[in-house]
Amino acid sequence: MSVAKNINHIMEEVGETCVRAGRKTSEVQIMAVSKFKDLQAVRQAYDAGVRLFGESRVQEAAEKFSPQTGRLEPFNDIQLHLIGSLQRNKAKKAAAIFDCIQSVDRTEVIEELGKITHGRTTPLPVLLELNAGEDSKSGFPNTDGLCRAAENVLGLKGLTINGLMTMAPWTDNDRLVRHAFSNLKKAQQILTGKFPDSNWQTLSMGMSGDFKIAIQEGSTLIRIGTAIFGGRAV
Ligand SMILES: *Cc1c(COP(=O)(O)O)cnc(C)c1O
Repeated sequence: MSVAKNINHIMEEVGETCVRAGRKTSEVQIMAVSKFKDLQAVRQAYDAGVRLFGESRVQEAAEKFSPQTGRLEPFNDIQLHLIGSLQRNKAKKAAAIFDCIQSVDRTEVIEELGKITHGRTTPLPVLLELNAGEDSKSGFPNTDGLCRAAENVLGLKGLTINGLMTMAPWTDNDRLVRHAFSNLKKAQQILTGKFPDSNWQTLSMGMSGDFKIAIQEGSTLIRIGTAIFGGRAV
């Protein structure tokens, strides 16, 4: 299967799932997760129309998309998001090359990004990550943790909140997966009530194996790696 065919197939499945769930297809963005994939694969996804890419490592993303500072041609019209946990010493580089940090998972990351982005004219969008429990390591543990994180972000001029992200637990039990997604939706409702002036619109949830459930539970951004690019060697 080619990358373009895979993307078309996913777009069809997203469309069908949205119709069944009574949602508009335009409410769900498809991100191509290009970690461990080379520039040629990324180029194929780009040529098939993808304009939102996700990478989990800062250095890899920098090499692939922005060797110096500007975006490599033809990728100057894409959105590039960080979806992997951010180390403090990579925060500066991350703030320079990503359009959004989805994986804001602990207070130190907020503090470090806040310092780095202090003088910016346009703030850097972030999503706050909710830990879905089970074997998942990253993310704020619960809604209280997200509320405190939101307060921290609100005190920083260089950052702006765009919503929430989560990773479902690694299990084939659909009930647990659905629970993780509905939890993020609930958190969104609570945070919208507590911080009505912030933007909680984005719910980044759903990957190759569980994006249909995520869409049924309200996802607005699905992060697809394997189903677009095939398996990863690593
Ligand atoms: C790798 C990764 C994905 C994509 O996973 P697939 O199962 O290959 O679609 C999505 N989100 C995050 C945070 C990831 O690290």
